[in-house]
Formats: sequence, C-alpha cells, structure tokens
Amino acid sequence: MVEFLKPDICVIGAGSGGLSVAAAAAAFGVSVVLVEKDRMGGDCLNYGCVPSKALIAAAKRAKDSATAAVFGVDAEPKVEFNRTYRHVRKVIAAIAPNDSAPRFAGLGVRVIAGAARFTDPATVTIDNGITVQARRFVIAAGSSPAIPSIPGLAQTPHLTNETVFDLSELPSHLVVLGGGSIGLELGQAFRRLGARVTVIEAARPLVRDDAECAQIVIDALVREGVEVKAGASVKSVRQSQGLVELVVACGEAEEAVTGSHLLVAAGRSPNLEGLGLDKAGIAFTKTGIVVDRSLQTSNRRVYAIGDAVAGAMMFTHLANYHAGLVIRHALFRLPVKVRYNTVPWVTFTDPELAHVGLTDEAAREQGYRIRVMRSPYCENDRAQAERATGGHVKVVTSARGRVLGATIVGAHAGELIALWALAINQGLNIRAMAEIVVPYPTFGEVNKRAAMTFFASAAANPTVRRIVRWLRRG
Ligand SMILES: Cc1cc2nc3c(=O)[nH]c(=O)nc-3n(C[C@H](O)[C@H](O)[C@H](O)COP(=O)(O)OP(=O)(O)OC[C@H]3O[C@@H](n4cnc5c(N)ncnc54)[C@H](O)[C@@H]3O)c2cc1C
Repeated sequence: MVEFLKPDICVIGAGSGGLSVAAAAAAFGVSVVLVEKDRMGGDCLNYGCVPSKALIAAAKRAKDSATAAVFGVDAEPKVEFNRTYRHVRKVIAAIAPNDSAPRFAGLGVRVIAGAARFTDPATVTIDNGITVQARRFVIAAGSSPAIPSIPGLAQTPHLTNETVFDLSELPSHLVVLGGGSIGLELGQAFRRLGARVTVIEAARPLVRDDAECAQIVIDALVREGVEVKAGASVKSVRQSQGLVELVVACGEAEEAVTGSHLLVAAGRSPNLEGLGLDKAGIAFTKTGIVVDRSLQTSNRRVYAIGDAVAGAMMFTHLANYHAGLVIRHALFRLPVKVRYNTVPWVTFTDPELAHVGLTDEAAREQGYRIRVMRSPYCENDRAQAERATGGHVKVVTSARGRVLGATIVGAHAGELIALWALAINQGLNIRAMAEIVVPYPTFGEVNKRAAMTFFASAAANPTVRRIVRWLRRG
C-alpha cells in the first residue's frame, strides 16, 4: 500500500502514552496518525499492569480464604490455575475495547498497524509502505524486559512479563530473577496460588524505596513462604532434565538453586531499535531517548514520552503525565516542565508499598533540615477491624512543615498516597493534612494522624506549653 499522509501529529506506539496523546489531540480536532506494530494498549494492557493486577487480585482471594478462620469463617481455598488465568484474560478483554483501533478510529484517529521508522528528520515510513510527514511526531515506543548477560541464560528457556501470563499450568517452583516491583508482585502472587517461589536479587530488594518500609514488605513475603535471596548474584544458568539450574553467589559462598520455571524480571530496556533515530537526528543513550524538560528531543519536531525516555520512571501514570505535557506544549505552545518529584509509585504487594517525593535519606542529602512523622496502622480502628494492622505512614517535611515526601506501607497504600502527591504538587504545609476532616473509620485516618504528630511534638515543647498557659490566663 503506497500512501502519503501529512497529519498534524504522528504518534509511534499505541500503549499508555501514545493512546493518551492520540485521544487528547483528536479531541481538540487535530489530525492524528497512530502507528502500532503489536497489540493496541501496549505493555500495560497486554503484558503489564492489567494482567499482573488481575493475577494479584486472584492470589489475594486465595490468601483471604486461607486466613478467613480469624474472622470466624472457615473456607478451604482450592486454586484451579486455568480458571485463574481465564479470569486474567477476561479482565484484559474487558478493558481492551477502550484501547482498540475501532474506538480510536471513532475518535477520528487514523490507526495504522505496522512498525514505524524515521527515514529523515521529518519523515516516518511504516513497513506497510505508508509514509508520514507530520508537523510533530511523538515517540511512545515503550520498553521491553532487559535480559542480563548471564552465562547460559540466553540458551535456557525463561519467562518474562511477555510470556508469564500465557502459562498453561502453575509452576511448581518459580525462580524469579529480580527483586524489584515486578518480581516481588508476581512472586507473591504465584506463592499465594500455590507455587514455591525463590526471588534472587543482586542488590537490596525494592532498592528505590525507603529501606525501612521496603523491609516490611520483604518480611511479609518471607512469612508467606517466599524465599528472598538478597545481595545474591546469578553466575550461570542452565537447563537440566526439564529444570532450570542457577549458580548463585552470596558473598564468598556459592549455591545451586533449581526450579521448574525461571522468570526474568531484572529491569527494562527502552524500545529504540528499528526507530531510525540516527536518521532523524534524535539523541539517545542506552537508557532511552534524551529529552529536555518539555519532552522535546534533539530534533525539535519530535517528542518522546513514557518508558522510551532516558532517565524517566517507567509507569503508566508517568506516560499519561508526559502525554498531557506534550499536548499542552505541542498544541497550545504553553511552557511546560516535567517534574518527577510529584510522581508517586506503588508496588502492589500485600502489604502495598507506595511512595512520592523525597525519602528522609534523600532529603538530608539535599541539605534539608527535616522532620519525620510516622503513624502506625495498628492505631487505626478500621485496620483493626480488617485485621490489616501491619505497616505505617512515614512523612518527611521541612523543619517548618512543607511536605517533601511520604512512604506508606500497608493496606490500600496505593490509594492513600494520592493525598501526599497532591500536597507535594501544590507545595502544601502539613497543616493542610492535619486540618482535613476524614470519615471514621477509614484507613485514610492514618494520613491525618501522621500529620498531627507534627504538632503533637510542638505541644510537648516547654516554650509552647508556657505560651499556651499564658494565653489561657489572659
Ligand atoms: C509486569 C508489569 C507490571 C506493571 N505494572 C504497572 C503498574 O501496576 N502501574 C504502572 O503505572 N505501571 C506498571 N507497569 C509499567 C507500565 O506497563 C509501563 O510503564 C507503560 O506501559 C509504559 O507506557 P508506554 O506508552 O511508554 O509504552 P507501552 O505501553 O509499552 O507502549 C509502547 C507501544 O509502542 C509499540 N512500538 C514500539 N516500537 C514501535 C514502532 N517502531 N512502530 C510502531 N509501534 C511501536 C509497542 O508495540 C507498544 O505497543 C508494569 C509493567 C510490567 C512489565
């Protein structure tokens, strides 16, 4: 098919970021071409957030029934793996229409199936023969699982997030390479569904998170029977008699770990190959496409967003945030500046681990005089009722109370972090959180209580107490 298109915007990649740009641009009446070489919806819908959260939800039901006796309810969990995976596929199918080609065509977007590559700074050619010369291009090509160069790994059958949701049976012993969010979320889910699970992590698991809070998650997983080997590096991998055998070094000692399946969850690499970035004069490194604060590349006609961007966090909400900035900058010529310190992230283990802004360690390194407030879940009445008393909220403020960061480990942490993201985004003082009225009994009260501890210590200060006494006398 030979065709020549001249839209206002050409978006490469129909994942979280690309779909958001295309939908918003079309809504403003701009002509948009959207090119996707694989499945509409990208990683998040097909191989990432959606199937993993559906699997985690199923695993939670297994865990809940196994531990229901404490509520006076006896239940015997029996997992039928095929039915669990059917549930995962149904969840993807329920969401898929939102991201589908017909829906986007209905919005006025020209959706093209094929792989796009730049042939010069202003032209993209699609492998079906269509050529696109757009006023602006947006690269939203996403990322793929990084496969570490461990001797024997390439020759040994292994799973990644792109294949783990296609299993036909529950692994008897799943070895997970990588103790980041993806490895721990899936590791715990498979454990709860009945698999033996070993997680191997070269550094500290959940290394980007507050160490104290991350440890609470690791301890919970270990209590559930997940074997976590931290500071352990894999020296070699091989297949033997249908099993995977890993040689793992922990300090001076080496040991063999044998499992039925190996899942590689050891980071992500941006999808840059085949994009023809050199031809378009677009600078990149091995961590992604280099962009400025408006997400423009070294070719001013081209933006890059989402997982493909160098140094960016890799989250669906980050790709969506990038998309919003590009729309404002490219369509309305408004000045924009990407701010990563206001972007929260969540590890969907049980307990959940959520973070936004600075940790106490990072705040000290940046020279802040800080205060750290904590509020434990065990002091929350709803948490007691739900028997979900593990965890706490930890908030970091400047000495005068400006909210700098928050980490929450515990039930619904992913929901509770949003208020702290708002506080940081708006530069709020912790007083704002202390003053809101929160419904009782809700988990949300842990946020308010953490905020109130800021003032509780002030109330214990002898000078403050003297002033209060003096005011009372007056
Ligand atoms: C197991 C797992 C769980 C996750 N869970 C979460 C979560 O709970 N919350 C969260 O926020 N994030 C999560 N993520 C991360 C999230 O999936 C990604 O950050 C998000 O999908 C990135 O969006 P994107 O638009 O940058 O890329 P993608 O969604 O990956 O889309 C990129 C698209 O571009 C296409 N493409 C690439 N090159 C070309 C080309 N040359 N021509 C045409 N098309 C091309 C690809 O086929 C792909 O469809 C998870 C990831 C994984 C792997």
